[in-house]
Amino acid sequence: MQLSKNNLQEKSDRVYDVIVIGGGAGGLSAGVYLQRYNLSTLIVDKGKARSFWMQELHNYLGLPPDLPGKELLKRGKEHFLSLDGDWLNGYVEEVVDEGETFAVQVKVGRQNSIDPVLRSKYLIAASGIIDNLIPLEDMLNVYEYAGYNLHVCLVCDGYEMTDKQAGLFVGSEASIETAFALSWFTPKITVFTHGLFEVSESMSSRLKELGYRLVETPIKQFLGKNHQMTGVEMVDGSVVELETGLLAMGSRYHHTYLSNFNLEKERNYLVTDKTGRTSHPRIFAIGDLKVGLNQVAIAVGDGALAGTQIWRDLRRVKGAIQNLD
Ligand code: FAD
Ligand code: FAD
Ligand code: FAD
Repeated sequence: MQLSKNNLQEKSDRVYDVIVIGGGAGGLSAGVYLQRYNLSTLIVDKGKARSFWMQELHNYLGLPPDLPGKELLKRGKEHFLSLDGDWLNGYVEEVVDEGETFAVQVKVGRQNSIDPVLRSKYLIAASGIIDNLIPLEDMLNVYEYAGYNLHVCLVCDGYEMTDKQAGLFVGSEASIETAFALSWFTPKITVFTHGLFEVSESMSSRLKELGYRLVETPIKQFLGKNHQMTGVEMVDGSVVELETGLLAMGSRYHHTYLSNFNLEKERNYLVTDKTGRTSHPRIFAIGDLKVGLNQVAIAVGDGALAGTQIWRDLRRVKGAIQNLD
């Protein structure tokens, strides 16, 4: 059922089998598997993350390639609720390990918020990451195009960029490397640094050798209309025309609530075994937050694996107790 400030009190003494943090593609898939193993599940979701900004779902078998992420989330949530799972809109602030259980502190409501603590035996971190966008003074100008033809995911949308005039927007020298992968799809590349850092001599000459333009002047605004970006205007008034773009400005990792745990990480992604188990035996991580490929198909598969492994763990425990009787 959908929980809210009004009916949350009823759940305060309950210990869920699993609390899933994040109701994106991964969390919803885990929730469906867990409920179908007759395990009690609560999904806590803050909203507004990657699946939500995805305008078209590519690379996913059986669903139309123009299905918006919002529709995927809607269908997934309906499916989960139809299996009697609990759902709470809220922001997980902190998790404490109490031994047998986890205490999960949630902020419910952006205004006049309350901070209930909910408990579970297992935790699935399915809270994903969020791409840093280019920091322009007017972020509405960025939101107009980000996720449309100003892409953030080369694996998802490289194909859409085939042979087009592409702008690559980077926040560090390391992310210029993306240009060489993008060149698989299009050779027409202009790299924009927005004046955020200085490009080394060796990188400049690598770009020059391949015929890629480098623009280090800060950007004033994107040009275009109806979510279709057609170029950028620089602060000096010059204009660079483009047909598409890719933002490679790094990401924010949604795992601050796990800071009490010293979980193993690789480049800020959580390290897991094949079932999604992290270095803590009762914490699983799935989807974009863990080391792997950031794709919906992977997040959905991860949810199936983690849900099934938790069922195996709990099933064994239950069997042992019954044998003693
Ligand atoms: P998410 O979908 O990001 O879900 C995480 C959820 O956790 C969110 O709902 C978030 O609100 C919640 N959350 C985060 N922190 C907290 C917290 N502290 N408390 C509570 N909740 C929290 N993939 C494809 O396969 N094909 C595509 O075509 C494609 N296109 C994309 C286009 C764009 C513009 C973007 C941004 C991504 C695209 N992706 C695509 C990637 C895809 O969106 C991700 O791989 C997928 O959403 C990962 O699922 P997830 O469940 O790990 O994370
Ligand atoms: P967060 O940083 O996740 O949360 C900030 C604080 O708000 C938290 O610490 C918590 O205290 C509180 N909080 C958050 N959620 C809740 C909740 N559910 N309940 C209680 N408290 C909560 N953003 C836009 O606004 N418009 C766009 O059009 C847009 N387009 C985007 C397109 C793409 C491709 C991408 C990658 C991102 C886009 N963004 C857009 C996202 C934007 O960059 C931010 O990441 C996003 O808006 C974060 O919102 P947030 O308030 O949830 O912030
Ligand atoms: P398959 O779908 O079996 O595809 C393999 C293909 O390879 C077949 O088309 C076969 O003809 C072909 N092939 C085999 N040998 C050769 C050869 N030598 N040369 C050429 N072609 C060959 N999974 C779920 O997630 N949810 C469910 O609810 C579910 N229900 C199921 C119900 C039933 C009745 C069955 C039988 C399975 C169910 N499954 C379910 C499992 C699911 O069907 C499989 O996990 C899935 O189909 C595996 O996909 P695959 O591509 O590996 O194999």
